[in-house]
Amino acid sequence: MAMPIYMDYNATTPVDPRVVEAMRPAFEEHFGNPASRTHPYGWAAARLVEKARASLASLLGGNPDEFIFTAGATEANNLAIKGVVWGRTGKTCHVITCATEHKAVLDPCRRLARDGEVELTILPVDRCGRIDPQQVHKALRPDTALVSLMLANNETGTLHPLPEVAQICRQRGVLLHTDATQAVGKIPVNVHELGVDLLSLSAHKFYGPKGIGALWRRRGVPLVPLLDGGGHEQGLRSGTLAVPLIVGLQRALELCCSDLECEGSRLAALRDELRRLLLNSIPGVEENGDPQHRLPNTLNLTFRDVEGNALLASLPALAISSGSACTSADPAPSHVLLAMGRTSREAQASLRFSLGRPTTAAEVEKAAELVRAALARLHRR
Ligand SMILES: *Cc1c(COP(=O)(O)O)cnc(C)c1O
Repeated sequence: MAMPIYMDYNATTPVDPRVVEAMRPAFEEHFGNPASRTHPYGWAAARLVEKARASLASLLGGNPDEFIFTAGATEANNLAIKGVVWGRTGKTCHVITCATEHKAVLDPCRRLARDGEVELTILPVDRCGRIDPQQVHKALRPDTALVSLMLANNETGTLHPLPEVAQICRQRGVLLHTDATQAVGKIPVNVHELGVDLLSLSAHKFYGPKGIGALWRRRGVPLVPLLDGGGHEQGLRSGTLAVPLIVGLQRALELCCSDLECEGSRLAALRDELRRLLLNSIPGVEENGDPQHRLPNTLNLTFRDVEGNALLASLPALAISSGSACTSADPAPSHVLLAMGRTSREAQASLRFSLGRPTTAAEVEKAAELVRAALARLHRR
């Protein structure tokens, strides 16, 4: 059987062959442990890691020593949130986040709240999935330690007004963390322009390898490590550094950043074409997300008068994700679409198309054709 057309690049991306190529020497030749300070094997590996750190700093802003390598964005988010909360000395501690965050932010926040370590405010969003900075302002308390707000939403592509939120947080001396996992590699991201204190990213969302990410932490932001051990990464993330993966992360980010604008407008044009083909020709289709503030590659649509499971089941030739089963273990309707005012039924009858570097115009046309045919079959029933 031919493989379905892949349009699930927000879930993960293939590793770019140029990234694989860049990683190879770090697997074979420079296999040393960067923590081995007594011989050239270690020195060579350490040089690769420091080169990657410097490259991240030049592409995303910040200083090289402010990047902490982690196993991905889930770990980076956990380190940012728990690390800040556990680093607080005060008795009570308040954390603010948002209803449309990824589970890798919501769940650590909820665990801290459940364990009585923080009081948690989960802010609502508007129908486009955006937060109103004034809501953040109103939610701040004297004991607020941290605001965690994603830059780009993984399901809808909606971008939050991070710089405005950052200004509010800075005025009140509250730390701001952003899960920028879907933004890095797709749109310009600079830690200084955003005005954040902590930022999470993950390589496998931008054509790098799985199992590597980073937390950028502004110098001086107090953080308690999740792991105790050899004291790597300034004691903030013990464990032997994954040198080949770190080199892959660096190369993948360099490649994305070198072609950010071109690729961004190419994907936006393809996304707009897919949108036109589906939205304009089929009745009962509505778009989810912000029409202006959004990623170039993501299209999320609700098909009003069909049943979600039937819709996805009738599209085996398309690898896309739906407004339910965003992880297969969890078939509940998308918490993101619910927070945007969709009903459970509508959320489940929603599809996310996320395009990527290998996506072609022919694939977009074919995808639209497949969806149209599937809907025609479902409506006939
Ligand atoms: C994919 C994703 C994550 C999880 O990243 P991992 O590196 O797979 O742990 C977190 N947040 C967002 C917004 C994501 O899209």
